[in-house]
Amino acid sequence: MTVTVRFAPSPTGRIHIGNTRTALFNWLFAQKNNGRFIQRFDDTDLERSRKEYADSILYDLHWLGIFPDSIEYQSKRFDVYDQAVEKLKADGLLYPCYETAEELDLRRKIRRTRGLPPVYGREALALTQDEVAQYEQDGRKPHWRFLLPNFVTDPAEPRRTEVHWNDLVRGEETVDLASLSDPVLVREDGTYLYTLPSVVDDIDMGITHVIRGDDHVTNTGVQIALFRALGAEPPVFGHHNLLTTSSGEGLSKRTGALSVESLRESGVEPMAIASLAVLIGTSENVQAMASMAELAGHFDPGSTSKSAAKFDPDELFVLNRALLHHMPFEDVRDRLQLLGIADERADAFWNAVRGNLDKLADARDWWRIVNEGPLEAPELEAEDREFLRQAFDLLPEAPWDDGVWKKWTASIRKATGRKGKELFAPLRLALTGRASGPELAELLPLMGPEGTLARRP
Ligand code: GLU
Repeated sequence: MTVTVRFAPSPTGRIHIGNTRTALFNWLFAQKNNGRFIQRFDDTDLERSRKEYADSILYDLHWLGIFPDSIEYQSKRFDVYDQAVEKLKADGLLYPCYETAEELDLRRKIRRTRGLPPVYGREALALTQDEVAQYEQDGRKPHWRFLLPNFVTDPAEPRRTEVHWNDLVRGEETVDLASLSDPVLVREDGTYLYTLPSVVDDIDMGITHVIRGDDHVTNTGVQIALFRALGAEPPVFGHHNLLTTSSGEGLSKRTGALSVESLRESGVEPMAIASLAVLIGTSENVQAMASMAELAGHFDPGSTSKSAAKFDPDELFVLNRALLHHMPFEDVRDRLQLLGIADERADAFWNAVRGNLDKLADARDWWRIVNEGPLEAPELEAEDREFLRQAFDLLPEAPWDDGVWKKWTASIRKATGRKGKELFAPLRLALTGRASGPELAELLPLMGPEGTLARRP
């Protein structure tokens, strides 16, 4: 059977780095198993879901290097869910309930005071036809609950019923169905909660492995029962730990914090996000992986920890610098071109500056410095100014080769007696306007004889 996974966000906002962990766990799992990756949008909530969010999620996934084999929208599949509802009703596994939220709340409180678990007591199953007729007459619409298989003959007497699965990430897992309320699958207004459409789709789309956040562990107990009620074998499940910030705060699509879009805009490379999103909270070291294939080699869902994966967003920039530092020119040629870095010096320029970049766009400043001189006129001590004038007068004749820096500084040393920092620091400042940066030996040939001489103070 072809391994088939899905990433199933609801398109109610932009995806954040925590969502990318789920997407990438699925993507890498599919890659390692020659499998298929389905992009499924859980957009049954028509009010909160938006097409533009779905589109933005696809864009972000492509940018990260995830290319779905197919794209599905739950909002186009209501008739399939309706059929499943009819089957469950016909089998007596979906029953109408008329309680309001306040009534349910009160019941829960009463159960607590009686020392009973605060789960739904299945009172609706005991309604007489007259009572139902009365509710209908009062204009109340039912919501529909799935009858969990946690009893022998009498639903009013649930008993411990363990559902087991061997979790891809967490190992042996158990959920006791008697500890849960019969889940509502369909609301009063006929809209679907996430539970049923997800299972129907997983069956229909041949999902073999459901890999998602560990906030769904309890759902899995319910959903395994639903798979069986619909006559299907449940897939393999894997629940990874969730990403939280260092202070333990969870991430939310709604706030937009650490969204893939905002990280992209601050210049974070896709593989910096992917490396962190996959490797944090596992037994692997978090290090910059240059490609998805390399990351796949370090991906092992079984080595993921069970506790929350805390991360410091600054780590992204550490990874970013490491990635840029080793990035070959071929991989950035097009992006440099968009920054206007395009002539025959682009290759040598990139190799000179890449080790000094926090983000790729910073290359633009260095390109300006190389072509036009310091971005701001450097402030020089009178003594250094004198020294620099003398130094610039010693610039080797054109044409220059790669050895020009060595040749020039040797003659400056000889003529002025300056060496080390005393010699290099004012030269760097005059040439670039900055106290640190790329090797001057590499920058000088790029600046050329005229460009260099123009910086003489
Ligand atoms: N729409 C659900 C969520 O975003 C999907 C969970 C699942 O993968 O089954 O949490």
